Amino acid sequence: MTDTKNITSWLDDFQLNHPLIIAGPCSAETEEQVLKIAHELKNSDVSIFRAGIWKPRTRPGGFEGVGAIGLKWLQKAKQETGLLIATEVATKAHVELALEHDIDVLWIGARTTVNPFAVQEIAEALENTDKIVLIKNPVNPDLSLWIGGLERLHNANIKKLGVIHRGFSTYEKTKYRNNPEWQIAIEMQSRFPDLPIICDPSHITGNRNMIGQISQQALDLNYDGLMIETHINPDEAWSDSAQQVTPDSLKSILKNLKVRKESDEDFDYVSRLTKFRTQIDETDEKVLEIIGKRMKIVEEVGALKKEKNVAILQSQRWQEILEKMQSIGKENGLSEDFIIRLFKAVHQESIHHQGKIINNQS
Ligand code: PEP
Ligand code: MN
Repeated sequence: MTDTKNITSWLDDFQLNHPLIIAGPCSAETEEQVLKIAHELKNSDVSIFRAGIWKPRTRPGGFEGVGAIGLKWLQKAKQETGLLIATEVATKAHVELALEHDIDVLWIGARTTVNPFAVQEIAEALENTDKIVLIKNPVNPDLSLWIGGLERLHNANIKKLGVIHRGFSTYEKTKYRNNPEWQIAIEMQSRFPDLPIICDPSHITGNRNMIGQISQQALDLNYDGLMIETHINPDEAWSDSAQQVTPDSLKSILKNLKVRKESDEDFDYVSRLTKFRTQIDETDEKVLEIIGKRMKIVEEVGALKKEKNVAILQSQRWQEILEKMQSIGKENGLSEDFIIRLFKAVHQESIHHQGKIINNQS
């Protein structure tokens, strides 16, 4: 996938002077619910109305979607409001039904992107159509899998492509439902600069109070759009209730967002930015030099442990370091979560260095 420029101009066709907004409920529940929400979103910045018809639930027993009947409700919403309509597809049968019902935008969910067989099946079912297809990141933080999904669709001659960043699962609990791991999405952007990237703050946060903040962060990183789950009565939603907002709150979130310009030719701006970036680069270099020094000390400790035949991992010492660093981190304005992730990485690298010494590896 080298030339992404001409395959991604679909977004320009919207002729928007703001980011693309996709909104609507997590799931279509009833015809009335779908139509009510769609009408509330008409005459707003929303261009595409979303609703899940087939819901991939992590555990069985939850609401698994209304099925094909919901496609008729979406069609009606489109007729009555003029909004384009979007739904998730996970199988060939879903694609066929979505095409029969003139769904405009199809997205591939995070649990489907992880499965190349499923993505391939969807790509073949969509071959040569002019639908807009958006690929959510896989649940696991694997950029290749995400790119692989994109390539499968591209190879099936699907030209209107985009990606949705919805965060990644972690075993450990964080304040997010799905950890954003911004660096993965940034890497996607730098590999495919012309490919529209949309942020899904609803699935990243799992919490309606954090949606504004994550949306702003996405816009600060030049994202092209947002997908925000919106429900007429979020607390009563049949799926993902904690993360859905009302149409009114959606409008207020959107009103408060600051859309940044991609760049500014202004000389003063450019020179100040360059200066700051240089300072950042210099600081990063120093950080790496210091970590390198730390590893040298760790190797000395490894040699000592080898002499005394002591195990590498001493969990009490590790707990002490973590606690102390969290408090120092706090004094320096660094979040607890960051300190834990940073020191886990440092600790892992240290174990690796000690292992080399103890086992005489180079
Ligand atoms: C959804 O958009 O409702 C959904 C199921 O999302 P994801 O695939 O990101 O979990
Ligand atoms: Mn959802």
